[in-house]
Amino acid sequence: MDIEAIRKDFPILDTKVYGKRLVYLDNGATTQKPTAVLEALDHYYKTYNSNVHRGVHLLSQQATDAFEAARTKVAAFINAKHTYEVIFTKGTTDGINLIASCFGRGFLKAGDSILISAMEHHSNIVPWQMICEEKGATVKVIPMNEDGVLQMDQLPALLDDTVKLVACTYVSNSLGTVNPVREIIKQAHSKGIPVLLDGAQAVQHIPVDVQELDVDFLVFSSHKLYGPTGVGILYGKEEWLNKLPPYQGGGDMIKTVTFAKTTYNDLPFKFEAGTPDMSGAVGLAAAIDYVTAIGLDNIQKEEQALLAYALEQLTAIEGLRLVGKSPERSGVISFLYKNTHPFDVGELLDKQGIAVRTGHHCCQPVMDFLGIPGTARASFAFYNTKEEVDILVAALKKAAAMLD
Ligand code: PMP
Repeated sequence: MDIEAIRKDFPILDTKVYGKRLVYLDNGATTQKPTAVLEALDHYYKTYNSNVHRGVHLLSQQATDAFEAARTKVAAFINAKHTYEVIFTKGTTDGINLIASCFGRGFLKAGDSILISAMEHHSNIVPWQMICEEKGATVKVIPMNEDGVLQMDQLPALLDDTVKLVACTYVSNSLGTVNPVREIIKQAHSKGIPVLLDGAQAVQHIPVDVQELDVDFLVFSSHKLYGPTGVGILYGKEEWLNKLPPYQGGGDMIKTVTFAKTTYNDLPFKFEAGTPDMSGAVGLAAAIDYVTAIGLDNIQKEEQALLAYALEQLTAIEGLRLVGKSPERSGVISFLYKNTHPFDVGELLDKQGIAVRTGHHCCQPVMDFLGIPGTARASFAFYNTKEEVDILVAALKKAAAMLD
């Protein structure tokens, strides 16, 4: 992989911050966009912007074709059996809220439970709490240990008769843990329980095949996959999507409307009320083309090598504590320096041109469990280099000297 050539595809990577070359290590929050994506958005708005699915005119047909071609591209990217199993959403959060609402209204009753994991992002906790509260159901949690590894020995007992759905992250955004999702799906399915995977931190790092995983629902965000903001994907198995009630009501999701009764549209439109993010879908398709051309296998190999190098270098810094020590990891390294606040480390790195994230990373229960206020988090993309890791390490040593 020619990283220097790849970096040229991302104009923002040439940006200077405080007069220093930007070292962008906040990819877990959002990734930068290659020129191909920026041009696809520009081209969409300059040449065929129009509303989809409704117009008889040429531009509307072109926009519809591009929008539906994007859906086909996403389906191929995750190997969905049917293109209509791919629903456009606003992002991961929106996808989880959709399933929580629809599954909750359709299938949850008092006494039932939803099983999540101890390392979920707030967006895979709160929607379940909200619907459970409404239905008199509860949220149960697969615990983790101090290393940030799920305690899988507890799973069989947790998967009792009350559990109606398991919702779990594939990769933890705060710890970098890659969860044993195949085993979770296998055990849940052996009891007839469907599984939703939060793929927000997975699809950009790991080849994901929904048929091979046999997962029932997968959600992710375009903006973490080098695509534009404002658009995301919900994959659902046809049988489940057909069984669920619709989410929002409005245009496009209906077949017929009278004041007495409305009938709903077929998949995927049943779950896509209102004007969708057409340009976002087109941009996401361009991002998928870009990533696919490099190859997710290659990306995974490069990123794993970079992660191993970064872990080795960071471990050697005296007083630096890694948070999350799963042997199976991807994308993210969380750390603390001695007893200092992560925000102070983050600020000192920022002044040296390095973008990391600090805080609880929308995972307050993780931080509470570990008894820490939060972490500083470096999160990687395939355009990051060993040289950038070296810059991070040197900057951390400088920050450490200032904090001591
Ligand atoms: N889940 C995980 C694991 C995430 O990392 C994120 C984004 N930080 C989300 C869900 C929410 O994604 P979005 O804000 O794009 O909806």
